[in-house]
Amino acid sequence: MGILNGKTAVVTGSTSGIGLACARTFAGAGANVVINGMGAPGDIEKERAAIERDFTVRAIYSPADMTKPSEIAELIALGEETFGSVDILVNNAGIQHVSPIEEFPAEKWDAIIAINLSASFHAIRAAVPGMKTRGWGRIVNTASAHSVIASPFKSAYVAAKHGIAGLTKTVALELARSKITCNCISPGYVWTPLVEKQIPNTMAARRMRRDEVINDVLLAAQPTKEFVTVEQVASLALFLCSDDAAQITGANLSMDGGWTVA
Ligand code: NAD
Repeated sequence: MGILNGKTAVVTGSTSGIGLACARTFAGAGANVVINGMGAPGDIEKERAAIERDFTVRAIYSPADMTKPSEIAELIALGEETFGSVDILVNNAGIQHVSPIEEFPAEKWDAIIAINLSASFHAIRAAVPGMKTRGWGRIVNTASAHSVIASPFKSAYVAAKHGIAGLTKTVALELARSKITCNCISPGYVWTPLVEKQIPNTMAARRMRRDEVINDVLLAAQPTKEFVTVEQVASLALFLCSDDAAQITGANLSMDGGWTVA
């Protein structure tokens, strides 16, 4: 028995990194979990088997593409049809691209805005009617320290993350009387494939070596001089989904080693 017993959580982008940690943490708290993301099918099957084995809960995988509104609606419908409800929605899928603005590929801009921002709108839109009917819901959006501060060469990412902070506040106000909360978590740097894949682009844009990017850009940003861990983000997401967090809504909770206050 866990604090999410009987609840169903859809976690977008949960085949890797923060989303995978959320899926595991929620499953550990007793939730049914809909896992989503783009990954090698073999890995996803392994992950689902591991979650089922470790936590003896039901987990189902959907390859819904977060750039496609119809597939996002189908993802929510899959959760409702399979488990009877979608009570928790974690909008977490995300991509990143680092490039000077004059060289920033337009298709990267479109994909980042679609996956990191618009997908959350489409998923919330699809999940809210069921949450309203049941009179309970939790929406957690994975934002970023870049929802409040900028860094050079991340124009699309910073724009999308500022957008998700605004969407979070608006949705929180609209749903405040419906016992549905909507919050975002803003991690600092977490060592995941999203960050690792952009090291070469960051080296090029900043004319730095790999170790300089890691130590003088990433770790230097955070006064703790440590990366945030995926488990730490997942623990905060779990708390936001608990009944104890019923009065937290519209918040943008930093977990960034002090980066945004420094
Ligand atoms: P990750 O690369 O480990 O995971 C990203 C997930 O998104 C994967 O499951 C991937 O398959 C999925 N995804 C990508 N494109 C998709 C698409 N079109 N449709 C469906 N799923 C798709 O990255 P992460 O670091 O765990 O990032 C998760 C979230 O956390 C993102 O929103 C990211 O912006 C945010 N974030 C990350 C950091 C960090 O330092 N890693 C910091 C702040 C915020």
